[in-house]
Amino acid sequence: MTLPRQTGFFGHPAGLRTLFFAELWERFSYYGMRALLVLFMTAPLAAGGLGWDVAKAGPIYGLYTAMVYLFSMPGGWIADRIIGQRRAVLYGGLLIMAGHVVLAIPMEASFLPGLGLVVLGTGLLKPNISTIVGHLYAPDDERRDAGFSIFYIAINIGALLAPLVTASLAQEQWFKDILTGWGMSPASSWHWGFGATAIGMAFGVIWYVIDGKTLGDAGMKPAVSSEEDAAAAKRQFAIGAGALVAVIASVAALQMTGVIALTTSKISNAFGVFLLVAVVAFFGWLLFSSGWTKEERKRLIVLAVLFLGAAVFWSVFEQAGSTLTLFAERSTRNEVFGMSFGSGKWQSINSLWVVILAPVFAWLWVKLGSKNPSSATKFSLGLVFVSAGFILMVPAAQLAANGDRVGWWWLLGCYFLHTVGEMCISPVGLSAMTKLAPARVGSLMMGVWFMATSVGNFIGGQVASVYEKFSLPQLFSVVGLYALVFAVVLALLINPIKRMLARA
Ligand code: GLN
Repeated sequence: MTLPRQTGFFGHPAGLRTLFFAELWERFSYYGMRALLVLFMTAPLAAGGLGWDVAKAGPIYGLYTAMVYLFSMPGGWIADRIIGQRRAVLYGGLLIMAGHVVLAIPMEASFLPGLGLVVLGTGLLKPNISTIVGHLYAPDDERRDAGFSIFYIAINIGALLAPLVTASLAQEQWFKDILTGWGMSPASSWHWGFGATAIGMAFGVIWYVIDGKTLGDAGMKPAVSSEEDAAAAKRQFAIGAGALVAVIASVAALQMTGVIALTTSKISNAFGVFLLVAVVAFFGWLLFSSGWTKEERKRLIVLAVLFLGAAVFWSVFEQAGSTLTLFAERSTRNEVFGMSFGSGKWQSINSLWVVILAPVFAWLWVKLGSKNPSSATKFSLGLVFVSAGFILMVPAAQLAANGDRVGWWWLLGCYFLHTVGEMCISPVGLSAMTKLAPARVGSLMMGVWFMATSVGNFIGGQVASVYEKFSLPQLFSVVGLYALVFAVVLALLINPIKRMLARA
């Protein structure tokens, strides 16, 4: 399925151009909405928000962002076994767009169904578009890593632009004045922000369709060996989807008849247990199933350790949309050189740093050559940096303790440190997964990587739910120390891992 070597896009296959802009717009819509999510849920009803407290908004943020990434596992499977990656990306884009259109309807009832559609759509789109990037290169093509770096930049250009647009529409006075001028309620501004993300996704889908010819037949067909195999896959899908619908319908029926009384925190705790069981069961199956050679088993143990490091890293890093956004909204003076801006715009800053730092790191890893640190070393460093970001916020939180607001430089510094950590973990992790995974479970490992993000997002949301329970300096210190403890644990494992892989 590999295309002949092409150089149509900055020396890379022309297909990368198609995927670059499709993913740019998909991430625009994801991060544009995420920038508003916690702010919209916690804004008072009179200001057009849902008027929820952080104890409810935090777990919903965590549940939603965790599910978005968890659905990458079934999304990858459906593409592999039933519809192929190309159609999965298209259907995913359409579902995401539909979800954002629903969110643009200014009614509380539209909120959860809108989020549900985005979860399903992103599950289909996100892992599969990354897999198609891989299909553009022959197995021995040395441009593959650079191709993924270019793709990572597309992700972050979308994520950089989105909050600038959505937070302006949702939060800033000039747009509220325009709405009033049109005879509309200024409190509906949030939904215009959500609407903008739907338009972004529409651009992505249209571009993907009209520029799709550059992709040839990459990802067109599912990987099934025979008609029976295809039929078996469809049967398995029907059973899985049927079971999911049955569980949701029974729980909804029990709730409506008053047999059970679910609350956000109960659902979120149940999801946490489910996630833990799923991760343990998955790695249990992976490590203990027979048929691995001794070397493969050693590599899988290393992957499990890296998975743990990644999950801890994302649980701190992904608080960008939760605790750090609350800090931006409540405790930061959001103005530079006399110009004020909406707190949601803070979520662009990580991406701005990525666009600046990604080329520096790409250069650094190549420059270090044979002295390039091992994946475990980089993961440990990533945890040190993400921890440092939160430790830096401790004095900021102290300054803000009496309800004062602090300057923009604190969050700017925190996001800088977090992005340096991200550069040590994210591109490195993806490449380690593909390098270490036994070929038979290669594509599954893309899903596993996103499962670490899922666990991380879930924990990140839980932390936001206790935002008002602890003093902020305390909360930020605990988060910083937690990451530091895991940094040390990983550092202690660097040499054993080296020995293990050397013998593998
Ligand atoms: N920012 C990257 C993206 O959106 C990585 C996110 C993650 O894996 N946590 O793809």
